[in-house]
Amino acid sequence: MTLLRPLIADVDAELREVPLVADDGVALGLTRFRRGPSDRSVLLVHGLTTSTDMFVMPEHDNLVESLLDAGWGDVWSVDWRGSFRLPYNTDARGFNVDDVALYDLPAALAAVRRHNGGRPVAVIAHCVGALALSMTIAAKLAGPLAGVVANSTFLTPNLSEQSRLKLSLLPAVLDRILPEGYIPMDLAQVGLLSRRGALFALAAAGSSCKDPTCQMISFAWGSTLGVGADAGGSALYEHRNLHPATHARLRELFGPAPLSFYPHLRKMASERAVVRCDVADARYDRLPRSALDTLDDWDTPLLFVNGVLNRVWTGSLALCHGYLADRHPDIDVTLIEIPGYGHQDIFIGRAAALDVFPRMISWLDERAPGRP
Ligand SMILES: [Zn+2]
Repeated sequence: MTLLRPLIADVDAELREVPLVADDGVALGLTRFRRGPSDRSVLLVHGLTTSTDMFVMPEHDNLVESLLDAGWGDVWSVDWRGSFRLPYNTDARGFNVDDVALYDLPAALAAVRRHNGGRPVAVIAHCVGALALSMTIAAKLAGPLAGVVANSTFLTPNLSEQSRLKLSLLPAVLDRILPEGYIPMDLAQVGLLSRRGALFALAAAGSSCKDPTCQMISFAWGSTLGVGADAGGSALYEHRNLHPATHARLRELFGPAPLSFYPHLRKMASERAVVRCDVADARYDRLPRSALDTLDDWDTPLLFVNGVLNRVWTGSLALCHGYLADRHPDIDVTLIEIPGYGHQDIFIGRAAALDVFPRMISWLDERAPGRP
C-alpha cells in the first residue's frame, strides 16, 4: 500500500480503498464510500498538497456525508500524486500539472466506471485538481461526465498580484535554501533552529495568526494582504469559518509544497490559461498546447463555485465564466459566488454543509444520471 496513513474521517458509509496505478506506473489512492446500490457516482478531486481528508472531516458535517445524505450514494475520492497521503511531494521526481491531467485523473475516472457499470460520473474538483481536470477534459481523456463542479479556478487561472510575485520569486530563492525541493509545513518536523526552521520565522512576518503551519500555508500559496476581516490572517481561508479543531490540526490537512509545480503554475498564470508545461516534451503530446484550444466541442456542464474573499485565484472563475459566455455560449456554465468565504473554506469551513454543499448538490441533481 502506497498510502502513508489512513483517513481521518467520520462518514457513515462502507469505506473501501481501491488499488489505483496511473498510466505512467505511479501508485495513487482511490477511496469509495457507499450506502448500498446507487446509480449516482461522483468523484472528488482535492488540491495540491491536501488529500481526501479535506472531504471527510470529522469535526463538522463534510462533503462526503452531504452527498450520501442527498442520494449520491456512490462517492469516490482520488488521492492524486500531489496528495499529502502520498510520498511524491517530498521525493525528487518533479511532477507538474500535466502529469496529473494525463496520467492520474483519466485513470481514476476509468476506475470509477469499471465499478459503476460505465455510467457518466460527476466530478467536484478543487484548485490545482480543477486545473488538471480542465486539461484532462480538453484532451478528451475524461470520458463521459454528468457534470463538473470546480472551486476557485478552472481553464483560465488568474492570480492575485502578490501570489503572482511569489510564484516568480519563491522558486529562485528557495531552490538555494531548500535543496530538498519542497516547502515544509510542520515546524515540529524540521525544528526551529534548522535551516528550514528559519523559513518559518520568515513566514511569521506580518501574520496575525500564531500557528506556524497556518503562517507557512499563506507564505507558500497566497496573499495575506487586503480584504475582509481576516486581512493579515490567512491566504487560503477565513479564520472565522474554520472550526477550532480544524485550525489546531492544519498540519494533518496541508502537506509539504513541492517546488516542481511552481514554474508550471507561473506559466499558466502568466498566460491566464491552462497550458502544457513543456510543449517540446513528446511524452505529453496527447494534451493540447492549451486547454482553450479544444472548446468547440466541449459538452461537459460546468458549475463554478467561488468564495467572494478568494485570495489565491482572484477573479479566476469570473474571468472563465465571461470568456465562455462570450466565445462559447453553447457551453452549459453557471457561476455562483459564496459571500464570506475564501479559497479552501469552501470545503473545510465548519458551516460549508449549510452554506455551500447544498448549492453544489442541487446543481448536480439537475444533471443526475437517470433523471427524466
Ligand atoms: Zn491561523
